[in-house]
Parts: sequence; C-alpha cells; structure tokens
Amino acid sequence: MIQRRSTVTVQVGQVHIGSEHPVVLQSMTNTDTADVEATVEQVRQLCEAGSELVRVTVNTNEAARAIPEIVDHLQEKGLDIPIIGDFHYNGHLLLTRHPECARKLSKYRINPGNVGMGRHRDRNFKQMIQVALENDRPIRIGVNWGSLDQKLLARLMDVNAQLAEPKDAREVLIEAIIESALESAELAQEYGLPHDRIILSAKVSAVPDLIEVYRQLAARCHYPLHLGLTEAGMGTKGVIASTAGLSILLQEGIGDTIRISLTPRPGGERTEEVLVAQQILQSLGIRSFAPQVSACPGCGRTTSTFFQELADEIQAHVRDRMLIWKEVHPGVEDLRVAVMGCVVNGPGESKHADIGISLPGTGEAPKAPVYVDGQHFTTLKGPDIAKEFIEILEKYVSERYGGSAVS
Ligand code: SF4
Repeated sequence: MIQRRSTVTVQVGQVHIGSEHPVVLQSMTNTDTADVEATVEQVRQLCEAGSELVRVTVNTNEAARAIPEIVDHLQEKGLDIPIIGDFHYNGHLLLTRHPECARKLSKYRINPGNVGMGRHRDRNFKQMIQVALENDRPIRIGVNWGSLDQKLLARLMDVNAQLAEPKDAREVLIEAIIESALESAELAQEYGLPHDRIILSAKVSAVPDLIEVYRQLAARCHYPLHLGLTEAGMGTKGVIASTAGLSILLQEGIGDTIRISLTPRPGGERTEEVLVAQQILQSLGIRSFAPQVSACPGCGRTTSTFFQELADEIQAHVRDRMLIWKEVHPGVEDLRVAVMGCVVNGPGESKHADIGISLPGTGEAPKAPVYVDGQHFTTLKGPDIAKEFIEILEKYVSERYGGSAVS
C-alpha cells in the first residue's frame, strides 16, 4: 500500500480527492461546450469508460450558458458525475455573468498565468475566488509551463542573476512553476478560501521536468495534487511518456487525481485517455478497474495468428462484459487471466493466474490445457477452443464473485 503524500481531502461533488482516498481518474472533453448534445454524449462515454471527474472548457458566454443544460441532461441520464469548468482569460467574467453556470459546476480550474495582467490579475483572481466561496466550490490552481506567469518568471530570473552562483535557466523555470502554484494557493486562502478547497497542479511536457516539479511541490505543501503530463502527444509516444512520468510519481505517493492528456488520432476515441489512466493505476497495483489478461508476446513457436486472435478475443470479451460484471460480480476487477502461446511458459504462467490457457505452439499436439486456481481443469481441443474457454471463464466469474451468470 503506497502512502499518499497529501494530507488534505478536497470534496468535488460526491468525489473525495487527496489524503487516504483512492487516486481519482479525470478526463476532459474536446467537444464545443456550447454544443450541449455532443458534450453530453462525450461526457457519457468518458463516464462509462471509468472517468470519475470530467473537465469541460468554458471559454465563451455560449459555453457558460450551456453548462446548466449539460449538467441537467447528465443527471436525467442518471450520470451524477462532477463537471469541472476550465477557465482562462475571462473566467472571472463568465463565472460572475453566469451564476447558474458557477452553481452547476463542481469545481473551477484556474490557470494563474491566464487570469490577466498587472493589477487586473489579482482583481480577476479574487473575483473567481469569491464566486467559489459563494457557491461553496473547490478550485484547482492549474499552472502550465506553456502559460506561466511571465512577471513571476522575470522576477525570479532577476533574483537569480544577483546570486553569487546563479542557477541554470531550467532550475529557475521549475522554481517559477512551483512558486506560481504555491503563491496562488496562498492568495486564494488570503481571500478566504479554506485550505481544503484547493487542489494544485503544475504541468510540464518533459518527463524529467514533471518528476522534478511534482517532487518539489509535494515536499513543499500538503494540498492534493492533480497529476498529468501536459501535451503528452499522440499514440504510443503520448502513452509511454505519460506512463513513464506518472508511474514514478505515483509510486512515491505523489498525485491524488490524474489525467492523461493524449491527442486522439482523427476520428479516434476520446475514451482512450481514461483506459490508459486506469491501466497505469492497475499496473502499479494502486487501483483495480478490470480483469487483467496476461499474454505472452509470442515468438517463433507461435507461427499462426490463432494465439493472437484468442488473446484479442478474450481481452475484448472481458472489456465488453465488464459493464455488467462489475454490477453483478463485485471484485471481478481483480481477476487475472493468462493466454499463453506454447508449452515453454504457458502452463507455469497459466497456473499463476486465476484462470489460464496454454495454447499449442508450432509442432505441439493440438490441445490447450486450461488451469483454474493453479490446478489443471480441462484440456480443450478442436475448432471451438475460444468459445469453450470463454464459457469456462464466465462460469468461473459467476461462481467466484457471486451473483448469477448473466448473458
Ligand atoms: S510462452 Fe512460448 S510462444 Fe509465448 S513467448 Fe514464450 S516461448 Fe514464445
């Protein structure tokens, strides 16, 4: 059990973030928020995929006007998921001009680098904090190095230049990111927002910088931290970079809510970011979301595609069934399934799983032993191995995790 580093709990809607609470999954829509129907549908998909908080852009009067309708539509569908408003530049205006929007949102994300310049900056920030106070809402102070408060950076650069041994520019930049988050949190508290209504984030796009920033931030405050690599990118690069950065930090107890900022491929699924976040947490043993299917990579001993097809079919079956399984078979998310390609590691790995199958490799007798709870259960042969294994899997799930078998 990894001890989380934050000691404060912040409540967002019905979700608790920080301290001993489980790490919370967050995602963000990429629809035009003013398009109520499209936004509701994407929030529904993200929610169904497992997102526990969803953030939406609130950038225009139209978007702010759409928020109450979006939240009401979601509630009509039985989706009581907290919706977070993402504000930049005009958040102070939108939140005060549209009180119903402010009321319906469960949290406001404020980027201290984008709340205005000079003396307007503090006034605008204060205005947003007042709205949070009036509505009893928490905020996230979300610093992003791409929109860092330039005045603060310049100030720290000047101070650094006076030092006998000035730090390098990267170190000053990291300090500025952290200072921006901590100073803004302090200011929010000065304006009356309680300590337990503040979440911090300080996102950068390079993995070593992310690790450095969050380690320092966690050492210097007790606020819950929202963790994510900003602009992670597309496809494999985005997944791996996010995993590399977040895994190290989560393993150190840093991070109370996470989001994976993947760029979807054109026409790609927005829900991918939720599945990646779940897989990171489950791979680290922090939370369980769905049964894990272990499959060997295959090699010269698996020259047909049968093994890959079976692994794929079982993975898809588990994914499709999870919506029902998690309702009627509590605990099924901890199930471990193994699909192995040949006799070399197949029986051993299958015995370590709750249920496993070892397929025949090239040149082996065409039979597939199935292991249940470490014991040989049966041996499958013939053209229906996949179907028969799935039947055994379904029976195992209903017997082990209670409830009745569901079709
Ligand atoms: S279990 Fe067999 S098929 Fe799979 S990688 Fe190992 S040797 Fe190759």
